[in-house]
Amino acid sequence: MGIVYKLINYADNSAIACLFTKDFGKIKFFINKAFTSKGGIHKFIPGEIDFLKKDNTDLNKFYAFHIDIKYMYFLENIDIYYRLHLVFEIIDYLYELESKDVFLWKLLTNVSSKNVHKFSIYTVYYILKHSGYIFDFSHCIKCNSPIKEGILTANGIYCSNCLINDSKITSISKDIMPYLKTLNEPGKFKDLILTEGSEQKILNIFIKYIENICGKKIKSFEILKR
Ligand SMILES: [Zn+2]
Repeated sequence: MGIVYKLINYADNSAIACLFTKDFGKIKFFINKAFTSKGGIHKFIPGEIDFLKKDNTDLNKFYAFHIDIKYMYFLENIDIYYRLHLVFEIIDYLYELESKDVFLWKLLTNVSSKNVHKFSIYTVYYILKHSGYIFDFSHCIKCNSPIKEGILTANGIYCSNCLINDSKITSISKDIMPYLKTLNEPGKFKDLILTEGSEQKILNIFIKYIENICGKKIKSFEILKR
């Protein structure tokens, strides 16, 4: 099972496809006829992949992709669709090839219209944590006092009194701090009510942090905001 998230045109009708799969994590394929009249390959929807795993190259041989129609709403629900774009752009930057992550697969395939705002926050948070980048939102890294509103730097979060030399990435306002503090406690985060406005504010913090790591713009976030 996997999700195609990127197709790069190659000669003729062929393409290089990037997928996230349940059993192999991020993986690449060479697809001979990716853009034919038969319909081509759908992105951002889970399905079953028929392929040959190659040992001597990163490019595996692709035979067929059958979408699982129970996930059709991934393509039909625009809120889900654009958040998947965002999450996969981040996966593409932060995940190594073939590092299996079944928990991420579970998060990706559990998105629904009901949880879509929490999905984006929790999944981006999980990816950061999994990649070794996450920090403690509750206490200042310098004076260790509880944070009401914070200042995010590449090294962690300061309270408003402590930032001296580190360069600021962005501020974290009071109203979203309660959400950030519960991210480490999934049970509690699940029970919170999260508005789209708060979701955007939190995503904005995560995305600025990731852009700082990668030195690149996360383009799909601009599209999502629009
Ligand atoms: Zn402090």
